[in-house]
Order: sequence, then C-alpha cells, then structure tokens
Amino acid sequence: MTESPADDCIFCRIVRGELSTELIAESEHNVAFRDVHPQAPVHVLVVPRRHFAALRDVGPGDWLITADALTLASRVASEQGLYAGGYRVITNDGPDAGQTVPHLHFHVLGGTMLQPGLG
Ligand code: 5GP
Ligand code: ZN
Repeated sequence: MTESPADDCIFCRIVRGELSTELIAESEHNVAFRDVHPQAPVHVLVVPRRHFAALRDVGPGDWLITADALTLASRVASEQGLYAGGYRVITNDGPDAGQTVPHLHFHVLGGTMLQPGLG
C-alpha cells in the first residue's frame, strides 16, 4: 500500500489519538490542544482532522473546514478568557513564514500584550 503523508504526520497522529495530547476543545472538523512550546500564556493550536500540508492546499470545496477552524479558534479564545484582552490567530504557510509542522494549523495566542505588528 502507498504511504500517505498523513501516516507519520505528528498532528494526524494527535488527531487519531495516538499521542497523549489532551484536546481542550473539539468540533466537527477540527481539534484544539495546547502548543508544546507556548509563546504566550495561552497558546493553543486549532488543527483540522483532515490532513492539509498548509493553507495553500485548502481547495474551493474545503472552506467549511477552515470556517469551522476559525469558529473553534474564537470559541477557544472565549473559553480561555481571552475576549477581555483580545487575542491573535495565525497560520504559517511555508519556510518564510516559519512553518515547522506540515499539517495546517491555526495558532491562538493571548493572555499577554502581544508583539505589535505582523512580522
Ligand atoms: P508552525 O511553526 O508550523 O507554525 O507551528 C508548529 C507548532 O507546533 C509549534 O509552535 C510547535 O511548538 C508545535 N508542536 C510541534 N510538535 C508538537 C507536538 O507534538 N505537540 C504539541 N502540542 N505541539 C507541537
Ligand atoms: Zn497531518
């Protein structure tokens, strides 16, 4: 059988429950868990259950999944108490953006005054 990129993808493994990563929220198309190397007091990753290498791989028929991801990101921000101070949602696509895990994900960052600007 041909290997799919999802077979040894770390986030696919988390989605499949193969690693001991606690999910802090779930929706139909996405899961949310804390980043292992947090860059802010709250740093959560929202990850589609389906494997996409990056945002560029989301096709015209897949937008329900990314809409669901942003809805979950907002719910996580609310549940983590970030609505008062605000929060940031980021996705990195490719090396110039610093993407290190080739499975689409949205960072939800907050709980402190974040660096101004967009890099
Ligand atoms: P990227 O640099 O691709 O935008 O973000 C990948 C993020 O995934 C990094 O912030 C990194 O700390 C996080 N990460 C990498 N491997 C794991 C893991 O096994 N578990 C968790 N919870 N986070 C991970
Ligand atoms: Zn994957």
